[in-house]
Amino acid sequence: MKINLYDILSVPAADRTVEAFFEDQEAVLQGERFKVSCEHPFSVRLKYVQKNEISVQLDVTVSVERCCSRCLEPVRRAYGLNLLHKIRTDTGMACTDESGEYDEVSYIEDCTLDVDMLILEELYTVLPPAVLCKEDCKGICKVCGANLNRQQCDCDQFVPDPRMAVFGDIFNQLKEV
Ligand SMILES: [Zn+2]
Ligand SMILES: [Zn+2]
Repeated sequence: MKINLYDILSVPAADRTVEAFFEDQEAVLQGERFKVSCEHPFSVRLKYVQKNEISVQLDVTVSVERCCSRCLEPVRRAYGLNLLHKIRTDTGMACTDESGEYDEVSYIEDCTLDVDMLILEELYTVLPPAVLCKEDCKGICKVCGANLNRQQCDCDQFVPDPRMAVFGDIFNQLKEV
């Protein structure tokens, strides 16, 4: 959802709360694709700070569907995002924490705030690099592809240590001499 900020920017002391929706989407982060959704509408509070600058505050819970990094089964997790950013519409920069430093952001263009993109950018800062369906997920068999959480297979799981293979080669060469 996009919000035009012109009304807020043109009225000093403006303080408005807007009901917003997040459009379900497929996000890509470091080559991994996943679905992000949000069932309920949420409030976005917009406040005039100074000329060309507003603050945006929101509190939302998004649901993320990724794959277990061991067995590849879908894993759904909820992430609560609570943010308060200061946005400069003239430079397209925002201050996202207490540091007071402004960085270029992609969710602001001209006088328009792209709420979906703001939420995605915030989500990327809290998303763990990988998820597991459960702490002790057994993964999939490297030989037959069976999900070892559901079934046991008879494959030989022995994977020779590559470092030992080097020794094996040297040993064989010595024998040949
Ligand atoms: Zn798993
Ligand atoms: Zn197997």
